[in-house]
Amino acid sequence: MRLWIESAVGLLFPPGRPPRPWGRLERPFCERCAEPYPRPIYDSFVCANCEKRKWALSRLRAAYRAEGSVREAILRFKYGREYFLRPWLGRWLRDGFREHYAAESWDALIPVPLHPLRRRRRGFNQSLEVTSWLASRVNLPLREGLIRPKATTPQARLRRSERLRNLRGALALAPGFDPRGLRLLICDDIFTTGATADACARVLRQAGAAEVAALTVARG
Ligand SMILES: [Zn+2]
Repeated sequence: MRLWIESAVGLLFPPGRPPRPWGRLERPFCERCAEPYPRPIYDSFVCANCEKRKWALSRLRAAYRAEGSVREAILRFKYGREYFLRPWLGRWLRDGFREHYAAESWDALIPVPLHPLRRRRRGFNQSLEVTSWLASRVNLPLREGLIRPKATTPQARLRRSERLRNLRGALALAPGFDPRGLRLLICDDIFTTGATADACARVLRQAGAAEVAALTVARG
């Protein structure tokens, strides 16, 4: 991962310069997981993958596709620790919020927690950083309602089939957080299979949340 970033630095946008986003995530896409559909379609639809999957999330949405400058900015923020990218990722997350969720009322934004060890190693939790940026701009409370008591292999290193198993027991409700009856929006930088966001939603739903949806900057 590091090699890829180093070789890409300055390719799509130079350090210190604001990147411009590529590729919005646009309909037609799966109403559940936002998987793009290649041809025009007039009815809403659910993809074959979602037909057989039991989601705890009501839906996943992203502002952009994970390509070009968007993908590079996410990787450079998270692994290259280019913290100055926070407001750009925050704005892109807000683009997605405006497009997909602003018309509804939400009780709180929830970041995806990092295990304390990984948070220390990385210096910050990228999910918390973009979520807090968005929360202050759209006047919604940020609640760190989840914790990650168990260290797991990074999802990015695993095959699709291994991702669900990897998350078993990895997430828990934060002490003192009561999600009963709340409509909650999980925010993160990127989702690929949606397994992490869905594991978050499962904990919150089991504790009584009325609805849990997810929003990310990009869809992998
Ligand atoms: Zn789907």
